[in-house]
Amino acid sequence: MKTIALVAHDAKKPDLLKWVSEHSDKLLGNEFYATGTTGKILSQVLPNIQCLKSGPLGGDQQLGALITEGKIDYLIFFWDPMTSQPHDVDVKALLRLSVLYDVPTACNRASADCLIKAIG
Ligand code: PGA
Repeated sequence: MKTIALVAHDAKKPDLLKWVSEHSDKLLGNEFYATGTTGKILSQVLPNIQCLKSGPLGGDQQLGALITEGKIDYLIFFWDPMTSQPHDVDVKALLRLSVLYDVPTACNRASADCLIKAIG
């Protein structure tokens, strides 16, 4: 069983929900963390998802802390390259920690499609 962190910015939430739905057979049976709003949406497909704070309220930092504790095996983060975020520093910090701790990270559908092969 792997622990997978899932995050999507607002414009990307439908894309992540679609991706998770398409790969639910491979994903189910793992453990999941998500930032608050992303997690609520994904819970329709992944009932065991653990929702942290919403991203702008510290959810990205909570995920970063879990990474530092070695509790996250994969990060799938559909961030939005077309919209500025009020918590941009937190987004950057999360991505920094995923690189620092060598957590396999996917930031778009194509890279998530590659990652699912490792997960499933
Ligand atoms: P959200 O946070 O899932 O609570 O919308 C995502 C983010 O903006 O990092």
